[in-house]
Amino acid sequence: MKTQLSIIGGGPGGYAAAFLAADLGMEVTLVEMQPRLGGVCLLRGCIPSKALLHVAKVLAEAKYLKQWGVAFSDPAIDIDAVRARKEKVIATLTGGLSQLAKRRKVRVVQARATFENSTTLRLNPIDGAAMDDDRLEFDHCIVATGSAPSTIPGLNLASPRVMDSTGALELPDVPESLLVVGGGYIGLEMGTVYAALGSRVSVVEMTGGLLPGADRNLVKPLAKKLETDFEAIWLNTKVTSLVDTGDGVEVTFDGDVEPKTRMFSRVLISVGRRPNSAGLGLENTQVSVNQRGIITVDAQLRTTDPRILAIGDVAGDPMLAHKASHEGKVAVEALAGKPAAFKPRAIPAVVFTDPEIAWAGLTETQAAAEGRQMAVAQFPWVASGRAQAVGRTEGLTKWIIDPATERVLGCGIVGPGAGDLIGEAVLAIEMGAAVGDLTDSIHPHPTLTETLGAAAEVYFGTATDLYRPKRE
Ligand code: FAD
Repeated sequence: MKTQLSIIGGGPGGYAAAFLAADLGMEVTLVEMQPRLGGVCLLRGCIPSKALLHVAKVLAEAKYLKQWGVAFSDPAIDIDAVRARKEKVIATLTGGLSQLAKRRKVRVVQARATFENSTTLRLNPIDGAAMDDDRLEFDHCIVATGSAPSTIPGLNLASPRVMDSTGALELPDVPESLLVVGGGYIGLEMGTVYAALGSRVSVVEMTGGLLPGADRNLVKPLAKKLETDFEAIWLNTKVTSLVDTGDGVEVTFDGDVEPKTRMFSRVLISVGRRPNSAGLGLENTQVSVNQRGIITVDAQLRTTDPRILAIGDVAGDPMLAHKASHEGKVAVEALAGKPAAFKPRAIPAVVFTDPEIAWAGLTETQAAAEGRQMAVAQFPWVASGRAQAVGRTEGLTKWIIDPATERVLGCGIVGPGAGDLIGEAVLAIEMGAAVGDLTDSIHPHPTLTETLGAAAEVYFGTATDLYRPKRE
Protein backbone atom coordinates (compact mmCIF):
# COMPACT_ATOMS: atom_id res chain seq x y z
CA MET A 1 0.00 0.00 0.00
CA LYS A 2 1.09 3.58 -0.61
CA THR A 3 -0.08 6.78 0.97
CA GLN A 4 0.83 10.44 0.85
CA LEU A 5 0.60 10.94 4.63
CA SER A 6 0.59 8.12 7.16
CA ILE A 7 -0.22 8.83 10.77
CA ILE A 8 0.51 6.37 13.56
CA GLY A 9 -1.97 6.70 16.42
CA GLY A 10 -5.63 7.69 16.47
CA GLY A 11 -5.61 9.83 19.63
CA PRO A 12 -6.37 13.58 19.80
CA GLY A 13 -3.03 14.32 18.13
CA GLY A 14 -3.36 11.75 15.36
CA TYR A 15 -7.01 12.21 14.42
CA ALA A 16 -6.80 16.04 14.52
CA ALA A 17 -3.81 15.84 12.15
CA ALA A 18 -5.52 13.28 9.90
CA PHE A 19 -8.74 15.30 9.62
CA LEU A 20 -6.98 18.60 8.86
CA ALA A 21 -4.71 16.92 6.30
CA ALA A 22 -7.77 15.46 4.55
CA ASP A 23 -9.51 18.87 4.69
CA LEU A 24 -6.44 20.36 2.99
CA GLY A 25 -6.64 17.77 0.22
CA MET A 26 -4.01 15.26 1.30
CA GLU A 27 -4.48 11.53 0.94
CA VAL A 28 -4.24 10.12 4.49
CA THR A 29 -3.87 6.69 6.10
CA LEU A 30 -4.33 6.52 9.86
CA VAL A 31 -2.92 3.42 11.56
CA GLU A 32 -4.32 2.65 15.01
CA MET A 33 -3.89 -0.58 16.89
CA GLN A 34 -7.07 -0.26 18.97
CA PRO A 35 -10.41 -1.16 17.37
CA ARG A 36 -11.74 2.34 18.13
CA LEU A 37 -10.41 5.84 17.43
CA GLY A 38 -9.88 8.34 20.25
CA GLY A 39 -6.62 7.31 21.88
CA VAL A 40 -5.95 7.47 25.60
CA CYS A 41 -7.91 10.70 25.93
CA LEU A 42 -11.22 9.35 24.73
CA LEU A 43 -10.97 5.68 25.68
CA ARG A 44 -9.08 5.75 28.99
CA GLY A 45 -8.24 9.32 29.96
CA CYS A 46 -9.84 12.75 29.69
CA ILE A 47 -13.37 11.74 28.73
CA PRO A 48 -14.13 8.74 31.00
CA SER A 49 -12.51 10.55 33.95
CA LYS A 50 -14.66 13.64 33.36
CA ALA A 51 -17.82 11.52 33.02
CA LEU A 52 -17.08 9.97 36.42
CA LEU A 53 -16.07 13.34 37.92
CA HIS A 54 -19.48 14.64 36.85
CA VAL A 55 -21.11 11.98 39.04
CA ALA A 56 -18.75 12.95 41.89
CA LYS A 57 -19.64 16.63 41.50
CA VAL A 58 -23.39 16.10 41.62
CA LEU A 59 -23.05 13.81 44.66
CA ALA A 60 -20.93 16.44 46.45
CA GLU A 61 -23.33 19.27 45.60
CA ALA A 62 -26.32 17.29 46.80
CA LYS A 63 -24.53 16.69 50.11
CA TYR A 64 -23.47 20.34 50.40
CA LEU A 65 -27.03 21.62 49.96
CA LYS A 66 -27.76 20.44 53.50
CA GLN A 67 -26.06 23.65 54.67
CA TRP A 68 -28.61 25.58 52.61
CA GLY A 69 -31.57 23.82 54.20
CA VAL A 70 -32.14 21.15 51.57
CA ALA A 71 -31.42 17.57 52.58
CA PHE A 72 -31.56 14.54 50.30
CA SER A 73 -31.54 10.98 51.55
CA ASP A 74 -28.33 8.98 51.02
CA PRO A 75 -27.80 8.19 47.33
CA ALA A 76 -28.26 4.64 46.04
CA ILE A 77 -25.32 4.06 43.69
CA ASP A 78 -25.72 1.41 41.01
CA ILE A 79 -22.08 1.02 40.01
CA ASP A 80 -22.93 -1.08 36.92
CA ALA A 81 -25.19 1.72 35.65
CA VAL A 82 -22.52 4.37 36.34
CA ARG A 83 -20.00 2.30 34.39
CA ALA A 84 -22.48 1.73 31.54
CA ARG A 85 -23.22 5.45 31.28
CA LYS A 86 -19.51 6.25 31.08
CA GLU A 87 -19.13 3.62 28.34
CA LYS A 88 -22.04 5.18 26.45
CA VAL A 89 -20.29 8.56 26.43
CA ILE A 90 -17.13 6.92 25.04
CA ALA A 91 -19.09 4.95 22.43
CA THR A 92 -20.92 8.06 21.19
CA LEU A 93 -17.70 10.04 20.78
CA THR A 94 -15.62 7.28 19.23
CA GLY A 95 -18.50 6.45 16.86
CA GLY A 96 -18.56 10.11 15.86
CA LEU A 97 -14.82 10.04 15.10
CA SER A 98 -15.15 7.02 12.88
CA GLN A 99 -17.97 8.74 10.94
CA LEU A 100 -15.87 11.89 10.58
CA ALA A 101 -12.94 9.81 9.26
CA LYS A 102 -15.23 8.13 6.73
CA ARG A 103 -16.76 11.40 5.50
CA ARG A 104 -13.28 12.84 4.99
CA LYS A 105 -12.10 9.69 3.22
CA VAL A 106 -9.32 9.08 5.74
CA ARG A 107 -8.32 5.42 5.38
CA VAL A 108 -8.23 3.86 8.86
CA VAL A 109 -6.19 0.66 9.26
CA GLN A 110 -6.20 -1.37 12.45
CA ALA A 111 -2.63 -2.60 12.98
CA ARG A 112 0.45 -2.01 15.09
CA ALA A 113 2.82 0.04 12.96
CA THR A 114 6.60 -0.21 13.11
CA PHE A 115 9.17 1.51 10.93
CA GLU A 116 11.10 -0.63 8.45
CA ASN A 117 12.90 2.47 7.19
CA SER A 118 12.27 6.20 6.68
CA THR A 119 9.62 5.60 3.98
CA THR A 120 7.94 2.32 4.94
CA LEU A 121 5.83 1.08 7.82
CA ARG A 122 5.27 -2.57 8.62
CA LEU A 123 1.66 -3.17 9.61
CA ASN A 124 1.59 -5.87 12.26
CA PRO A 125 -1.82 -7.55 12.57
CA ILE A 126 -3.72 -7.36 15.86
CA ASP A 127 -4.79 -10.76 17.26
CA GLY A 128 -3.81 -12.48 13.99
CA ALA A 129 -6.45 -10.56 11.96
CA ALA A 130 -6.05 -10.86 8.18
CA MET A 131 -4.48 -7.79 6.52
CA ASP A 132 -4.80 -6.66 2.87
CA ASP A 133 -1.19 -5.58 2.89
CA ASP A 134 1.46 -5.62 5.59
CA ARG A 135 3.50 -2.67 4.30
CA LEU A 136 2.64 0.98 3.94
CA GLU A 137 4.89 3.29 1.96
CA PHE A 138 4.55 6.99 2.66
CA ASP A 139 5.79 10.39 1.55
CA HIS A 140 5.53 11.65 5.14
CA CYS A 141 4.64 10.08 8.46
CA ILE A 142 3.41 11.71 11.66
CA VAL A 143 4.13 9.72 14.82
CA ALA A 144 1.33 10.25 17.35
CA THR A 145 1.70 7.14 19.48
CA GLY A 146 1.02 8.89 22.80
CA SER A 147 2.09 7.66 26.20
CA ALA A 148 1.44 4.95 28.80
CA PRO A 149 1.34 4.98 32.62
CA SER A 150 4.75 4.94 34.29
CA THR A 151 5.51 2.26 36.84
CA ILE A 152 7.63 2.44 39.99
CA PRO A 153 10.81 0.38 39.57
CA GLY A 154 10.73 -2.59 41.93
CA LEU A 155 7.03 -2.16 42.72
CA ASN A 156 5.46 -4.05 39.82
CA LEU A 157 3.03 -6.20 41.76
CA ALA A 158 0.87 -8.15 39.32
CA SER A 159 -2.37 -8.13 41.25
CA PRO A 160 -5.90 -7.10 40.27
CA ARG A 161 -5.90 -5.01 43.45
CA VAL A 162 -3.11 -2.79 42.09
CA MET A 163 -4.36 -0.59 39.25
CA ASP A 164 -3.09 2.13 36.95
CA SER A 165 -5.38 4.93 35.69
CA THR A 166 -6.79 2.63 32.97
CA GLY A 167 -7.76 0.02 35.57
CA ALA A 168 -9.22 2.65 37.90
CA LEU A 169 -11.38 4.10 35.09
CA GLU A 170 -12.82 0.66 34.43
CA LEU A 171 -14.48 1.06 37.83
CA PRO A 172 -14.35 -2.63 38.75
CA ASP A 173 -16.01 -1.89 42.11
CA VAL A 174 -16.03 0.69 44.89
CA PRO A 175 -13.26 -0.54 47.20
CA GLU A 176 -13.66 -0.01 50.92
CA SER A 177 -10.27 1.73 50.99
CA LEU A 178 -8.04 3.02 48.20
CA LEU A 179 -4.44 4.21 48.32
CA VAL A 180 -3.50 6.61 45.52
CA VAL A 181 0.26 6.60 44.94
CA GLY A 182 1.15 9.99 43.41
CA GLY A 183 -0.38 13.39 44.15
CA GLY A 184 -0.49 14.59 40.53
CA TYR A 185 -3.64 15.56 38.68
CA ILE A 186 -4.64 12.05 37.55
CA GLY A 187 -4.31 10.61 41.06
CA LEU A 188 -6.27 13.46 42.64
CA GLU A 189 -9.03 13.31 40.00
CA MET A 190 -9.44 9.55 40.41
CA GLY A 191 -9.23 9.87 44.20
CA THR A 192 -12.05 12.44 44.03
CA VAL A 193 -14.22 10.00 42.04
CA TYR A 194 -13.68 7.06 44.38
CA ALA A 195 -14.12 9.20 47.54
CA ALA A 196 -17.45 10.51 46.20
CA LEU A 197 -18.59 6.95 45.44
CA GLY A 198 -17.83 5.93 49.03
CA SER A 199 -14.22 4.68 49.25
CA ARG A 200 -11.94 5.83 52.06
CA VAL A 201 -9.16 7.40 49.97
CA SER A 202 -5.57 8.08 51.07
CA VAL A 203 -2.88 9.75 48.96
CA VAL A 204 0.86 9.32 49.25
CA GLU A 205 3.17 11.78 47.49
CA MET A 206 6.96 11.70 47.63
CA THR A 207 7.50 15.46 47.25
CA GLY A 208 6.51 18.09 49.83
CA GLY A 209 3.19 19.09 48.22
CA LEU A 210 0.29 17.97 46.03
CA LEU A 211 0.39 18.86 42.32
CA PRO A 212 4.12 19.59 42.09
CA GLY A 213 4.69 22.44 39.63
CA ALA A 214 1.43 24.29 40.33
CA ASP A 215 1.53 27.58 42.30
CA ARG A 216 1.13 26.88 46.00
CA ASN A 217 -1.61 29.46 46.63
CA LEU A 218 -3.73 27.75 43.96
CA VAL A 219 -3.18 24.32 45.50
CA LYS A 220 -3.96 25.47 49.07
CA PRO A 221 -7.79 25.60 48.84
CA LEU A 222 -7.86 22.20 47.13
CA ALA A 223 -5.48 20.64 49.67
CA LYS A 224 -7.72 21.96 52.47
CA LYS A 225 -10.84 20.45 50.88
CA LEU A 226 -9.13 17.12 50.21
CA GLU A 227 -8.08 16.92 53.85
CA THR A 228 -11.78 16.48 54.65
CA ASP A 229 -12.76 14.45 51.57
CA PHE A 230 -9.83 12.02 51.85
CA GLU A 231 -8.85 9.94 54.85
CA ALA A 232 -5.17 10.88 54.73
CA ILE A 233 -2.62 12.76 52.64
CA TRP A 234 0.99 11.77 53.30
CA LEU A 235 3.62 14.08 51.81
CA ASN A 236 7.40 13.52 51.65
CA THR A 237 6.58 9.82 51.80
CA LYS A 238 7.47 6.91 49.52
CA VAL A 239 5.94 3.48 49.07
CA THR A 240 8.66 0.86 49.50
CA SER A 241 6.70 -2.38 49.12
CA LEU A 242 3.36 -3.77 48.03
CA VAL A 243 2.20 -7.26 49.00
CA ASP A 244 -1.11 -8.84 48.00
CA THR A 245 -2.17 -10.75 51.12
CA GLY A 246 -5.22 -12.32 49.52
CA ASP A 247 -7.72 -9.95 51.09
CA GLY A 248 -6.00 -6.65 50.42
CA VAL A 249 -2.71 -4.96 49.64
CA GLU A 250 -0.20 -4.51 52.44
CA VAL A 251 1.70 -1.30 51.79
CA THR A 252 4.92 -0.25 53.48
CA PHE A 253 5.87 3.43 53.59
CA ASP A 254 9.09 5.32 54.10
CA GLY A 255 8.28 8.73 55.62
CA ASP A 256 6.35 10.46 58.34
CA VAL A 257 3.58 7.84 58.59
CA GLU A 258 2.70 5.71 61.59
CA PRO A 259 2.20 2.78 61.43
CA LYS A 260 4.54 2.26 58.49
CA THR A 261 2.64 -0.75 57.20
CA ARG A 262 -1.06 -0.47 56.35
CA MET A 263 -3.71 -2.46 54.49
CA PHE A 264 -5.78 -1.15 51.59
CA SER A 265 -8.48 -2.84 49.51
CA ARG A 266 -6.95 -1.43 46.32
CA VAL A 267 -3.97 0.67 45.24
CA LEU A 268 -3.87 3.08 42.30
CA ILE A 269 -0.41 3.85 40.95
CA SER A 270 -0.42 7.22 39.16
CA VAL A 271 3.15 8.44 39.03
CA GLY A 272 3.29 10.03 35.61
CA ARG A 273 3.40 8.84 32.01
CA ARG A 274 6.11 7.69 29.63
CA PRO A 275 6.16 8.26 25.85
CA ASN A 276 5.33 5.32 23.54
CA SER A 277 8.52 5.43 21.46
CA ALA A 278 10.12 2.06 22.29
CA GLY A 279 9.38 -0.85 19.95
CA LEU A 280 8.43 1.46 17.07
CA GLY A 281 11.50 0.62 15.01
CA LEU A 282 12.77 4.20 15.23
CA GLU A 283 16.30 2.80 15.06
CA ASN A 284 15.54 2.03 11.37
CA THR A 285 15.03 5.76 10.73
CA GLN A 286 16.98 8.92 11.49
CA VAL A 287 14.58 9.93 14.29
CA SER A 288 16.29 10.75 17.59
CA VAL A 289 14.81 10.39 21.05
CA ASN A 290 16.05 11.89 24.31
CA GLN A 291 16.90 10.01 27.52
CA ARG A 292 13.23 9.92 28.54
CA GLY A 293 12.26 8.38 25.19
CA ILE A 294 10.68 11.63 23.96
CA ILE A 295 11.05 12.18 20.21
CA THR A 296 13.07 15.33 19.46
CA VAL A 297 11.15 17.80 17.28
CA ASP A 298 11.54 21.38 16.05
CA ALA A 299 8.89 24.12 16.09
CA GLN A 300 7.25 22.56 13.01
CA LEU A 301 7.17 19.18 14.76
CA ARG A 302 9.73 17.76 12.32
CA THR A 303 12.00 15.09 13.74
CA THR A 304 15.63 14.62 12.76
CA ASP A 305 14.36 12.44 9.88
CA PRO A 306 13.18 14.67 7.00
CA ARG A 307 10.19 12.39 6.21
CA ILE A 308 8.94 11.98 9.77
CA LEU A 309 7.19 14.33 12.21
CA ALA A 310 6.03 13.67 15.78
CA ILE A 311 3.25 15.22 17.87
CA GLY A 312 1.45 14.82 21.19
CA ASP A 313 2.63 12.95 24.28
CA VAL A 314 5.38 11.11 22.38
CA ALA A 315 6.86 14.51 21.45
CA GLY A 316 7.03 15.73 25.05
CA ASP A 317 5.46 17.75 27.84
CA PRO A 318 2.94 18.91 28.71
CA MET A 319 1.22 15.60 28.00
CA LEU A 320 -2.21 17.07 27.38
CA ALA A 321 -4.82 16.39 24.71
CA HIS A 322 -5.23 20.00 23.53
CA LYS A 323 -1.45 20.33 23.13
CA ALA A 324 -1.45 17.11 21.08
CA SER A 325 -4.21 18.26 18.71
CA HIS A 326 -2.74 21.73 18.31
CA GLU A 327 0.62 20.20 17.43
CA GLY A 328 -1.15 17.90 14.97
CA LYS A 329 -2.60 20.89 13.16
CA VAL A 330 0.72 22.76 13.10
CA ALA A 331 2.52 19.67 11.73
CA VAL A 332 0.00 19.32 8.91
CA GLU A 333 0.11 23.03 8.08
CA ALA A 334 3.91 22.81 7.94
CA LEU A 335 3.64 19.86 5.53
CA ALA A 336 1.19 21.88 3.44
CA GLY A 337 3.85 24.57 3.12
CA LYS A 338 2.15 27.10 5.40
CA PRO A 339 4.30 29.27 7.70
CA ALA A 340 3.22 27.34 10.80
CA ALA A 341 5.14 26.93 14.06
CA PHE A 342 4.22 25.59 17.50
CA LYS A 343 5.18 28.51 19.72
CA PRO A 344 2.30 28.99 22.14
CA ARG A 345 2.49 31.66 24.83
CA ALA A 346 -0.04 29.76 26.90
CA ILE A 347 -0.92 26.07 27.05
CA PRO A 348 -3.69 25.76 29.62
CA ALA A 349 -3.51 23.09 32.32
CA VAL A 350 -6.60 22.07 34.27
CA VAL A 351 -7.00 19.86 37.33
CA PHE A 352 -10.65 18.77 37.37
CA THR A 353 -10.92 18.29 41.12
CA ASP A 354 -13.31 20.13 43.43
CA PRO A 355 -12.35 22.98 43.48
CA GLU A 356 -10.77 22.97 40.03
CA ILE A 357 -7.34 24.48 39.43
CA ALA A 358 -6.34 25.98 36.08
CA TRP A 359 -3.42 27.97 34.85
CA ALA A 360 -1.98 29.22 31.58
CA GLY A 361 1.20 30.95 30.52
CA LEU A 362 3.80 31.96 33.07
CA THR A 363 3.27 30.73 36.63
CA GLU A 364 4.51 32.55 39.72
CA THR A 365 6.66 29.54 40.59
CA GLN A 366 8.28 29.56 37.13
CA ALA A 367 8.82 33.35 37.11
CA ALA A 368 10.45 33.19 40.56
CA ALA A 369 12.67 30.26 39.51
CA GLU A 370 13.79 32.18 36.42
CA GLY A 371 14.35 35.34 38.46
CA ARG A 372 11.93 37.26 36.18
CA GLN A 373 10.43 40.59 37.17
CA MET A 374 6.69 40.20 37.60
CA ALA A 375 3.69 41.83 39.22
CA VAL A 376 0.97 39.58 40.63
CA ALA A 377 -2.58 40.88 40.92
CA GLN A 378 -5.01 38.59 42.66
CA PHE A 379 -8.70 38.70 43.44
CA PRO A 380 -10.04 36.47 46.22
CA TRP A 381 -13.46 35.07 45.39
CA VAL A 382 -14.78 36.00 48.81
CA ALA A 383 -15.39 39.43 47.20
CA SER A 384 -17.31 37.95 44.23
CA GLY A 385 -21.10 38.15 44.33
CA ARG A 386 -21.47 34.97 42.30
CA ALA A 387 -19.04 33.00 44.48
CA GLN A 388 -21.03 34.12 47.55
CA ALA A 389 -24.33 33.19 45.87
CA VAL A 390 -23.15 29.64 45.26
CA GLY A 391 -21.26 29.36 48.54
CA ARG A 392 -17.83 28.80 46.94
CA THR A 393 -15.72 31.64 48.29
CA GLU A 394 -12.46 29.69 48.63
CA GLY A 395 -11.48 30.56 45.04
CA LEU A 396 -8.82 32.92 43.75
CA THR A 397 -8.05 34.46 40.36
CA LYS A 398 -4.66 35.98 39.63
CA TRP A 399 -2.76 37.53 36.75
CA ILE A 400 1.01 37.47 36.35
CA ILE A 401 1.96 40.75 34.68
CA ASP A 402 5.12 42.10 33.09
CA PRO A 403 5.56 45.40 35.00
CA ALA A 404 7.56 46.96 32.14
CA THR A 405 4.95 46.45 29.40
CA GLU A 406 1.86 45.75 31.56
CA ARG A 407 1.17 42.73 29.36
CA VAL A 408 -0.44 39.70 30.98
CA LEU A 409 1.98 36.78 30.87
CA GLY A 410 0.14 34.23 32.94
CA CYS A 411 -3.06 33.48 34.83
CA GLY A 412 -3.96 31.10 37.64
CA ILE A 413 -7.41 30.25 38.96
CA VAL A 414 -8.68 27.98 41.71
CA GLY A 415 -12.39 27.46 42.25
CA PRO A 416 -15.33 25.61 40.70
CA GLY A 417 -15.32 26.03 36.91
CA ALA A 418 -11.70 27.26 36.81
CA GLY A 419 -11.14 25.03 33.77
CA ASP A 420 -13.78 26.91 31.79
CA LEU A 421 -12.72 30.34 33.08
CA ILE A 422 -9.11 29.92 31.94
CA GLY A 423 -10.18 30.17 28.27
CA GLU A 424 -10.40 33.97 28.45
CA ALA A 425 -6.91 34.12 29.95
CA VAL A 426 -5.47 31.95 27.15
CA LEU A 427 -6.87 34.33 24.55
CA ALA A 428 -5.62 37.40 26.44
CA ILE A 429 -2.10 36.01 26.80
CA GLU A 430 -1.92 34.80 23.18
CA MET A 431 -3.18 38.16 21.88
CA GLY A 432 -0.59 40.02 23.96
CA ALA A 433 -3.29 41.82 25.94
CA ALA A 434 -2.28 44.46 28.46
CA VAL A 435 -3.80 44.29 31.93
CA GLY A 436 -5.82 47.41 31.02
CA ASP A 437 -7.51 45.46 28.20
CA LEU A 438 -8.97 43.20 30.86
CA THR A 439 -10.37 46.09 32.90
CA ASP A 440 -11.74 47.68 29.70
CA SER A 441 -13.62 44.49 28.76
CA ILE A 442 -17.12 44.25 30.23
CA HIS A 443 -17.64 40.95 32.05
CA PRO A 444 -21.19 39.68 32.61
CA HIS A 445 -22.60 40.07 36.12
CA PRO A 446 -22.96 38.08 38.29
CA THR A 447 -20.50 35.52 36.97
CA LEU A 448 -17.15 34.16 37.99
CA THR A 449 -15.65 35.59 34.78
CA GLU A 450 -15.86 38.95 36.56
CA THR A 451 -13.01 37.76 38.78
CA LEU A 452 -10.70 38.00 35.73
CA GLY A 453 -11.60 41.67 35.26
CA ALA A 454 -11.49 42.30 39.01
CA ALA A 455 -8.01 40.74 39.38
CA ALA A 456 -6.85 43.11 36.62
CA GLU A 457 -8.40 46.05 38.56
CA VAL A 458 -6.41 44.95 41.61
CA TYR A 459 -3.27 45.66 39.61
CA PHE A 460 -4.34 49.33 39.35
CA GLY A 461 -5.54 49.43 42.98
CA THR A 462 -9.10 50.17 41.78
CA ALA A 463 -11.05 46.93 42.29
CA THR A 464 -14.68 47.95 42.89
CA ASP A 465 -15.40 45.05 45.23
CA LEU A 466 -12.12 45.05 47.13
CA TYR A 467 -10.30 47.86 48.93
CA ARG A 468 -6.69 47.30 48.01
CA PRO A 469 -5.06 50.66 47.16
CA LYS A 470 -1.99 50.57 44.94
CA ARG A 471 1.19 50.75 46.93
CA GLU A 472 3.81 53.14 45.56
P1 FAD B 1 -2.81 9.08 22.76
O1 FAD B 1 -4.11 9.64 23.11
O2 FAD B 1 -2.03 8.33 23.79
O3 FAD B 1 -3.07 8.15 21.50
C1 FAD B 1 -2.05 7.39 20.94
C2 FAD B 1 -2.67 6.27 20.13
O4 FAD B 1 -1.65 5.63 19.40
C3 FAD B 1 -3.33 5.20 20.98
O5 FAD B 1 -4.66 5.05 20.58
C4 FAD B 1 -2.50 3.96 20.72
O6 FAD B 1 -3.29 2.78 20.68
C5 FAD B 1 -1.91 4.25 19.35
N1 FAD B 1 -0.64 3.59 19.08
C6 FAD B 1 0.47 3.60 19.87
N2 FAD B 1 1.47 2.91 19.26
C7 FAD B 1 0.97 2.47 18.07
C8 FAD B 1 1.52 1.70 17.02
N3 FAD B 1 2.78 1.27 17.05
N4 FAD B 1 0.73 1.41 15.97
C9 FAD B 1 -0.55 1.84 15.92
N5 FAD B 1 -1.12 2.57 16.91
C10 FAD B 1 -0.36 2.88 17.97
N6 FAD B 1 -5.40 15.54 28.90
C11 FAD B 1 -6.10 16.69 28.87
O7 FAD B 1 -5.79 17.58 28.08
N7 FAD B 1 -7.16 16.89 29.71
C12 FAD B 1 -7.55 15.96 30.61
O8 FAD B 1 -8.51 16.16 31.35
C13 FAD B 1 -6.84 14.74 30.66
N8 FAD B 1 -7.20 13.77 31.53
C14 FAD B 1 -6.53 12.59 31.53
C15 FAD B 1 -6.92 11.61 32.42
C16 FAD B 1 -6.25 10.40 32.45
C17 FAD B 1 -6.69 9.34 33.42
C18 FAD B 1 -5.16 10.17 31.56
C19 FAD B 1 -4.44 8.86 31.56
C20 FAD B 1 -4.76 11.15 30.67
C21 FAD B 1 -5.43 12.37 30.65
N9 FAD B 1 -5.05 13.39 29.78
C22 FAD B 1 -5.74 14.57 29.77
C23 FAD B 1 -3.89 13.25 28.87
C24 FAD B 1 -4.35 12.92 27.45
O9 FAD B 1 -5.10 11.73 27.47
C25 FAD B 1 -3.14 12.79 26.54
O10 FAD B 1 -2.34 13.93 26.63
C26 FAD B 1 -3.59 12.61 25.10
O11 FAD B 1 -4.40 11.47 24.95
C27 FAD B 1 -2.37 12.51 24.18
O12 FAD B 1 -2.80 12.39 22.88
P2 FAD B 1 -1.89 11.69 21.77
O13 FAD B 1 -2.66 11.82 20.50
O14 FAD B 1 -0.52 12.20 21.85
O15 FAD B 1 -1.80 10.15 22.19
